[in-house]
Amino acid sequence: TFTPASVLVTGGAGFIGSNFIHHFLAGNPGCRVVNLDILTYAGNLKNLTAVQDNPDYRFVRGDICDAPLVATLLEEERIDAVVHFAAESHVDRSITGPEIFVRTNVLGTQTLLEASRKHAEKLPDFRFLQVSTDEVYGSLGPVGYFTEETPLAPNSPYSASKAGADLLVRAYFETFRLATLNTRCSNNYGPYHFPEKLIPLMIHNILQRQPLPVYGDGLNVRDWLHVKDHSAAIERVLKHGTPGEVFNIGGNNEWKNIDIVKLVCDLMDERLGRFPGESRQLIKFVKDRPGHDRRYAIDAAKLKRELGWEPSYTFERGIAETIDWYLANQGWVAEVASGAYREYYQAQYGNR
Ligand code: NAD
Repeated sequence: TFTPASVLVTGGAGFIGSNFIHHFLAGNPGCRVVNLDILTYAGNLKNLTAVQDNPDYRFVRGDICDAPLVATLLEEERIDAVVHFAAESHVDRSITGPEIFVRTNVLGTQTLLEASRKHAEKLPDFRFLQVSTDEVYGSLGPVGYFTEETPLAPNSPYSASKAGADLLVRAYFETFRLATLNTRCSNNYGPYHFPEKLIPLMIHNILQRQPLPVYGDGLNVRDWLHVKDHSAAIERVLKHGTPGEVFNIGGNNEWKNIDIVKLVCDLMDERLGRFPGESRQLIKFVKDRPGHDRRYAIDAAKLKRELGWEPSYTFERGIAETIDWYLANQGWVAEVASGAYREYYQAQYGNR
């Protein structure tokens, strides 16, 4: 068992990173958490107001590609673990502008690895955990699951850049014996999810009685996991995983996109006192995303077998709580939905 004393979390102002920081600080009092985040459109310090005065927590605004900054932080804060979330994470954006994905996801990861390698020479117990995605495995047919042995076959510039980063992580273990770990998780949902992503986008648009854009025929399948279960899995891999290994994370919870949208519509109708089926009338099928992967489904048996992880949320409970969180946090949504986000949304979906 590895017990970190000072953790560098990259991208901690984003969706999963901020959820992880809440989870980790609550369960590891006395362990320092330094959050390095450049605050792109997706980074929001409002996600972290509940911990901003915690003496164990520090925020540093900066770029993971800034090698001197990263080296200084590792040294100054005596970091013994890096949990690396920082990324450009939205597939649609990677289609309209792939360069930044290569810079942040590939070069950024390599910069962190290189600084970590040098830092770890003085700190043999150091660990580096790369947070990645099932999208690196490509697309599945109607049956079968991604295992850790599935060959990488990314189809979007986003997933290709994450696969590139994962391979660098592997290389730093094989070449330099840096103690790396690599997790690959299915789609996450939960609080603090940026409203461009499917579930919060639908909640937001249902509230505003705006059309609900669904790609293609809506039959693409995704495997959904609550972000708190993802956070717990990452902590477990960091503390108990064998360096050099990859761990898939998922909750065996496959849904067709259209069925998720219908479920959110129905739960929202109940909460808003609308008549049954009212919100479903807002569903609008739009032109499919190019290279849209048909199905992702993850086999997380290794994580369950070797590290005893199990998801704690049923989807029924998780999705209901998530909807209630968005309804109770309209101020957060309104803020995120302003400015840069709105411009992007207009360019992507027009005024529909
Ligand atoms: P996000 O887009 O919400 O957050 C990314 C964060 O990284 C933002 O706070 C942003 O400001 C920060 N960032 C971007 N470029 C940076 C840079 N150069 N330097 C420092 N910080 C930078 O993403 P997310 O959905 O929270 O995903 C986090 C990680 O988890 C990503 O690596 C993603 O690939 C992976 N992942 C996401 C999902 C999912 O369903 N969202 C599933 C599996 C894996």
